Amino acid sequence: MDKKVAIVTGGNSGLGYATAKKFCDNGIKTYVIGRTKERTVNACSEIGDNAMPLIFDLTNLDEIPGMIQDIFDKEGQIDILVNNAGINMKKEFIEVTDAEFENILHTNLFSVFAISREVVKKMKETGGGSIVNISSMAAQYGMPKVVAYSASKTAIEGMTRAMAVDLAQFNIRTNCIAPGFIKTKMTAKALDSDPPRKEKVFSRTPMGKMGLPEDIADAVFFMCSKEAKFVTGTVLPVDGGNSIGF
Ligand code: NDP
Repeated sequence: MDKKVAIVTGGNSGLGYATAKKFCDNGIKTYVIGRTKERTVNACSEIGDNAMPLIFDLTNLDEIPGMIQDIFDKEGQIDILVNNAGINMKKEFIEVTDAEFENILHTNLFSVFAISREVVKKMKETGGGSIVNISSMAAQYGMPKVVAYSASKTAIEGMTRAMAVDLAQFNIRTNCIAPGFIKTKMTAKALDSDPPRKEKVFSRTPMGKMGLPEDIADAVFFMCSKEAKFVTGTVLPVDGGNSIGF
């Protein structure tokens, strides 16, 4: 029972991969959720024995309770949930359709609520746990062409505080990490194809560089550790100062 059990959604790439690796390297058995079988299985074999691939589309809200029950039946505990899976869409405001807006909210918000609710039921049974949500700079200031993404990430921060208040009585802490601009394949491509945006990012980041996925993993790990045992309801920017830069 000493070995902790974690779930990292979207753990097959980018920030989620670094987080799953950090957990596994520190002896935490980690369920890595992704939709793509090959990517998820490969990521887990790279990470090592503590990583358990789980192929699941989080937009299937009705299937989330069964998926969480299966993990609980196997492990008898779920100590950590990292709600990292997310999708983005860059588009002019007036061209975003209702369906596109809903699609982003579905993955980035509704599924986060549904999986958190189910995991909380189990954490309550076993005496507590830690939940970390992943937001964005798009929730700290107005960013062009990402209206649905901004709405979803801003909601995540509000939900983090609401969850912290509701769940403290069950010894469940809920925090949020707001990553700045982090070097992943996706961001490199997005910024390289938009030089003015890239210039803007660097000009308002006091530390003058992008972060690494491991920087986010370290912050998530801290939030789940006993060193953060009196921390709940916070939003921690891990951003080289981007959110407070001029
Ligand atoms: P990636 O695109 O590299 O990874 C997204 C992950 O989510 C993948 O593992 C993907 O796996 C999974 N995923 C997406 N949709 C679903 C779904 N419906 N069901 C299950 N899994 C899903 O993203 P990043 O690592 O760049 O970002 C991770 C998080 O960090 C996101 O929430 C993002 O908004 C946030 N963030 C990232 C920043 C950055 O600089 N990279 C900056 C700020 C925030 P698969 O495709 O196999 O389903």
